[in-house]
Amino acid sequence: MNTIIANEKIDDTKLARARDIISGLYSEQPEYIARGCGPFMAAIYDENGNLIAKAANSVMHDKCSHNHAEMNAIRMAEVALNTHDLSAYNLSLYSTAEPCMMCLGGIMWSGIKSVYFGVPSAVVESITGFDEGFKPNWMDEFKKRGITVYGNIEADAGAKILKDYKKLNRIVYNPKRK
Ligand SMILES: [Zn+2]
Repeated sequence: MNTIIANEKIDDTKLARARDIISGLYSEQPEYIARGCGPFMAAIYDENGNLIAKAANSVMHDKCSHNHAEMNAIRMAEVALNTHDLSAYNLSLYSTAEPCMMCLGGIMWSGIKSVYFGVPSAVVESITGFDEGFKPNWMDEFKKRGITVYGNIEADAGAKILKDYKKLNRIVYNPKRK
């Protein structure tokens, strides 16, 4: 059992729902990877448990460096709800991995109220070689902004998918640095 990290007192109901949703995303991932997507997925639900958006990482497929799963899901939710400001909808974002530094910005500006993630960035980086960026105290910073965060949810199952992805020898996208 992976130890849950959170920036509020853990609510068992929220956590149980997050385990179900993130496990569901893990089970769908191989299908998306087979279609050329990267090994990350995200979904956005409203407070009544309705699915608003679901997406995979499509950076390589779309030739767009912004198209991480979380960013794709936020864009889809904003289109679906016809607004740039999701804050009135009390939405939760579920991601198979800890959001990178870009996605933290995207989440902050979108008005998403809660974030639940699977595999922590340090584990993602050690398995895949992706650079998740620098994110000092981000869970505390989100708390200050009224965004709750739970992480390390079913992370071993998520790590297995990343290990399987690595075996495919696909391109691991990182910009050149010199
Ligand atoms: Zn990202």
